[in-house]
Amino acid sequence: MCIFCEIIAGNIPSTKVYEDDKILAFKDINPVAPVHIIVVPKVHIESANDVNSQNSDVISAIFEKIPEIAKSQGIDSYRIINNCGDDAGQTVKHLHFHIIGGLEMGEKIL
Ligand code: 5GP
Ligand code: ZN
Repeated sequence: MCIFCEIIAGNIPSTKVYEDDKILAFKDINPVAPVHIIVVPKVHIESANDVNSQNSDVISAIFEKIPEIAKSQGIDSYRIINNCGDDAGQTVKHLHFHIIGGLEMGEKIL
C-alpha cells in the first residue's frame, strides 16, 4: 500500500480535517504555509495521468468539498496544487491536491 492508502486505512496517523465515503483531507506533515491540507481520493489513483471516465467522480467530489475544507481552516483564498509525475516533484504516487493558504502568495507559481 502507498503512504496515503495507509493513512486512509488508518494504519498511519494523520490529522484529519474532512472525511466522507470518497475523499479524505488531512494536514500535510511538512507544511509550507500556515494552512497546508492534502486532499486525496480514497481509491488509489496514481496521478492526474490516471484519471478517466471510470474514476473521475472523485475529482468532482474533491472540488465540491475544497471550499468547505478551506473555510474550516479559516481561509477563503488559497492555491490548489497538483504535482503530476517526477518532473513536477510528485513524491507520493497517490493523486492528491494541496490546499495552501493563510499567507499572501502573489501571482508567481511558487
Ligand atoms: P507531492 O510532493 O507528492 O506533491 O506531495 C506529497 C506531500 O505529502 C508532501 O507535501 C509531504 O509533506 C506530504 N506527506 C508525505 N508523507 C506524509 C505523511 O505520512 N503524512 C502527512 N500528513 N503528509 C505526508
Ligand atoms: Zn494509494
